[in-house]
Amino acid sequence: METVFSKIIEGTIPSKKVFENERILAFHDIQPAAPVHVLIIPKKFIASMNDVTAEDLPLIAEIHAVAQQIALELGVAETGYRLINNCGPDSGQAVPHLHYHLIGGAKLGALVG
Ligand code: IMP
Repeated sequence: METVFSKIIEGTIPSKKVFENERILAFHDIQPAAPVHVLIIPKKFIASMNDVTAEDLPLIAEIHAVAQQIALELGVAETGYRLINNCGPDSGQAVPHLHYHLIGGAKLGALVG
């Protein structure tokens, strides 16, 4: 399925990359919610958390390892950060391609208002 993220993966939409390998891409969010706001996505198309299968679990684990590395590199590992996945309408998921928000660099407020 074509989304803004598939276009970022193929390079037709530019992004500020912070990490890339054959399976995963991470880039700065275009509308940052905090001083550090990076999106980490699999290059494989997975629409949402609901569509993750057992065979994807190594990829999900690798995304966590990448998040840990990015948090260190961007200086928020010690101060703290959130790794957030929005899944489905109630979460506000706007882009139907699995992604994780790594958010930090400031004291973060309550999630649900
Ligand atoms: P969601 O609400 O969890 O689906 O988050 C989608 C995120 O993608 C939002 O935080 C948007 O700001 C971000 N976003 C949308 N288009 C772009 C883009 O072209 N570059 C970087 N981030 C984007």
